[in-house]
Amino acid sequence: MAYLTVDGISAGYTKLDVLKNVHLSIEKGEIAALIGPSGSGKSTLLRTLVGLLRPHTGGVEIDGHSIDYGDRDSLRQARDRFAIVFQQYNLFQNMTALRNVTIAPDIVKKRARKDVEALAAELLDKVGLGNKLGAYPDELSGGQQQRVAIARALALKPDILLLDEVTSALDPELVTEVLDTIRLLADEGMTMLIVSHEMAFVREVASRVVFMDQGSVVEAGPASQVFDAPKTDRLRDFTAKIL
Ligand code: ADP
Ligand code: MG
Repeated sequence: MAYLTVDGISAGYTKLDVLKNVHLSIEKGEIAALIGPSGSGKSTLLRTLVGLLRPHTGGVEIDGHSIDYGDRDSLRQARDRFAIVFQQYNLFQNMTALRNVTIAPDIVKKRARKDVEALAAELLDKVGLGNKLGAYPDELSGGQQQRVAIARALALKPDILLLDEVTSALDPELVTEVLDTIRLLADEGMTMLIVSHEMAFVREVASRVVFMDQGSVVEAGPASQVFDAPKTDRLRDFTAKIL
């Protein structure tokens, strides 16, 4: 039994399905990458997993527990188990880096403030911002702000971290520092499902690559297989364009 199993999910923004019968599985500690053309449903899949969209059909199982997205308690469980970081980091401009991280667990978990601050400081240090606790977002580079957003997601102690094109809005020279942070989390055994256009990075860190097109998973397998031995014309066309 895989750690995360997505079993035939269909979902969309209206009655129309954007995702069509999506299956995928991830083992604990594994990094899986979602690749595919723009509009293929990658973000929609991540949004569905965290409960921002309700699947029309299909199920999700994490660590042996199935999530019923129609049920409030299960939905809360889904939100506890996943944390998502978006392309646009959306930090609160009027709050320090530390406060931007503490605000999430403050609200969600109601832990003692002292513990939350210690955890936030530790996480900011982990992402290389131990000396920026008191800095406001406009005093930080895009790469630093994105690392604050990653620390904020980690403060929720997710079982699975979802990263949706977290380097796409960054100037090229700032991409590396964010990829280094993801690499560090990978080395620590964090289970992650990432959407990325950094194909060299995907090949390096992802043990499983899932190629989506038009709302469906077209091919999935080890990075070497997906990149070097694509089975379908659709994947061949896609990799020809991006590699
Ligand atoms: P990707 O992340 O792979 O680029 P998306 O999941 O964002 O793809 O989009 C998949 C499809 O869903 C596209 O056809 C897109 O137009 C549609 N879509 C995305 N967001 C919305 C939305 N908020 N409302 C309606 N349709 C949407
Ligand atoms: Mg997207």
